[in-house]
Amino acid sequence: MSDYLDQLTVSTLKGVGPKMVEKLNKIGVFSVQDVLFHLPMRYQDRSKITPLAALQMGSEAVIEGEVKGCNVVMGRRRSLVCKLQDHTGTVTLRFFHFTAAQKNNLTAGTRIRCFGEARRGASGIEFYHPEYKLVTDSYQGGDDSLTPVYPSTEGMHQAGWRKLTEQALLLLKKHRLREWLPENCGPIATTTLEQAIQFLHKPPTDANTEALSNGKHPIQQRLAFEELLAHNLSLLKLRNIAQLQPAPKLPANGKLQQQFLDALPFQLTAAQQKVSTEILTDIASSLPMLRLVQGDVGSGKTVVAAMAAMAAVENDYQVAIMAPTEILAEQHLINFTTWFQPLGIKTAWLSGKLKGKKRQQQLDLIASGEAPIVVGTHALFQQEVHFAKLGLAIIDEQHRFGVHQRLALREKGAHLGLYPHQLIMTATPIPRTLAMSAYADLDCSIIDELPPGRTPINTVVMDNSRREQVIERVRQNCIDGRQAYWVCTLIEESEQLQAQAAEDTYEELQKKLKGLGVGLVHGRMKPAEKADIMAQFKRNQLQLLVATTVIEVGVDVPNASLMIIENPERLGLAQLHQLRGRVGRGSVASHCVLMYQPPLSQQSRERLTAMRESNDGFYIAEKDLELRGPGEVLGTRQTGLMQFKMADLTRDQALLEPVKAAADTLIAEYPENLEGIISRWLPDAARYGHA
Ligand code: ADP
Ligand code: MG
Repeated sequence: MSDYLDQLTVSTLKGVGPKMVEKLNKIGVFSVQDVLFHLPMRYQDRSKITPLAALQMGSEAVIEGEVKGCNVVMGRRRSLVCKLQDHTGTVTLRFFHFTAAQKNNLTAGTRIRCFGEARRGASGIEFYHPEYKLVTDSYQGGDDSLTPVYPSTEGMHQAGWRKLTEQALLLLKKHRLREWLPENCGPIATTTLEQAIQFLHKPPTDANTEALSNGKHPIQQRLAFEELLAHNLSLLKLRNIAQLQPAPKLPANGKLQQQFLDALPFQLTAAQQKVSTEILTDIASSLPMLRLVQGDVGSGKTVVAAMAAMAAVENDYQVAIMAPTEILAEQHLINFTTWFQPLGIKTAWLSGKLKGKKRQQQLDLIASGEAPIVVGTHALFQQEVHFAKLGLAIIDEQHRFGVHQRLALREKGAHLGLYPHQLIMTATPIPRTLAMSAYADLDCSIIDELPPGRTPINTVVMDNSRREQVIERVRQNCIDGRQAYWVCTLIEESEQLQAQAAEDTYEELQKKLKGLGVGLVHGRMKPAEKADIMAQFKRNQLQLLVATTVIEVGVDVPNASLMIIENPERLGLAQLHQLRGRVGRGSVASHCVLMYQPPLSQQSRERLTAMRESNDGFYIAEKDLELRGPGEVLGTRQTGLMQFKMADLTRDQALLEPVKAAADTLIAEYPENLEGIISRWLPDAARYGHA
């Protein structure tokens, strides 16, 4: 037998046959070490017995008493019903599944100790399916440790996990876990790793339960540190691999850029210039760029991306610009075509909806290199897409592409041993802590300034009983010569339902706002129809635009100064902020009305309050993280990747700087330790860079 528990497979544990091995493997548990690192997410204190009279409804408790009687009752469901009594009162235990042995054990006069949740039942307090054991003369004491509660997994019960860990903990006495953290990396350990693991699975009853239940116990923090480190290293490893593969040097000679800047109706902000320089410096070198550009909505990221694209084109390379949705991609196409066509540079377009001959034409433009600028959606990943010579991939992420896709585009662009540079833009800011962990493989630039002349948006929150008042306000706003948006949202991501809701509202508002030009746009309309309505709105031929969340991106009408968002409680904060960014683009004061459907949950209330209080995308992103957690904030694709067993990005922010430092030290001084740390915390399937 190996000395180390990562070398010992789970099948060495009793009761773990081939079927169980398969189940465990599926959730990434292969070795005894993996069992030990399946850590409890909380604990129950079963050391104290609660007198029956002191039970609180809905709370978990340990009770002990004498069985007064036990019967099989034939109600709607056959059940075993048992009366338990102590010196303070009586409760009922109810079992819907039971064995003959159970029935025979629970005879009158037997003393048992149970654990379960006290609920209000037909006959007073009831416990459904409590865990219980007989109290014999030889066994009387309470549990001598807190009871761990493990994250639930398919096909494995709590009792199952407890049995496995019991055995694994016994093995821990004879075998070892590898300590991968040298002394100069990470928090000062006051216990050995073996002791830490032992403690977390079986904390003594005098442990600091409050710290434990908040995940703030030093021993938990120590493991949280290692876990964050593992995630970090996994991403950095990816980056290191990427950087071994050179990229083309794309020094800008400045000519195209000058023409472009001369044609722009505005000057770049200092922040745009700064970030632009960072990017141009990166891509002038053969070390592949991996850079994330963050900036609040409206900060002007697109222009910065275009500047980088110019450099690639000057060097005879292609640029791919990829967006997560069709509408966002279309908007980029419009911008890039407007900017590049006058310079004699062709753009190609690819989306899932493009079919047949038109599609083939575009594919040809891309493959021949005739179109240096290629704009599209995920469709750019498809096998049939071949780039002639891709030098730069620009990804407008909106938190929806994962690491895997970033890599796929890179692979696609490989040309004569050179890999494209990568520029990632996020449509909304990501809280610093998330950026440091989820994007640890990227360098980060921040556009921390909005173009001049924007006025802050005044946001109000009201319930939809005041709908008529709001409609009146829209009328007044438009009579005063300004324009407005009315945004309809739905819970479902169904374009059809959204479109329907918008159509109904459109009809209602048309009736109520006679004399005003009211338009409608939604995702189910043909691009030409949409474009036509948008153009009319831009020219102020329409004063009110009823829309689904499709206007989240790309609409730019400075005269629009009022936005009504229906049911804002259904949207994430980032999306609301993005939507709201459509107003406040001109010099008049702008307003946003968040018209919710009562009742609001506490969380929704807090979220809408955050919107009212701040116009700062970074602040709002932090709030979103606090209220909804990293999975939601990063969006679905990243969710699986950012699941932690022990760490919590919000709670453990303070660990992130030291984790970063430790990662650098390990890479520089202990490269042989990296794989051990990564594989302990990230089972293969969850590894960044594996699909
Ligand atoms: P985002 O960062 O949200 O993607 P965009 O790139 O779409 O922002 O830019 C938002 C709007 O601001 C666009 O209409 C763009 O033309 C305009 N814009 C960008 N940079 C400047 C600037 N320096 N001065 C004035 N307007 C600008
Ligand atoms: Mg944008």
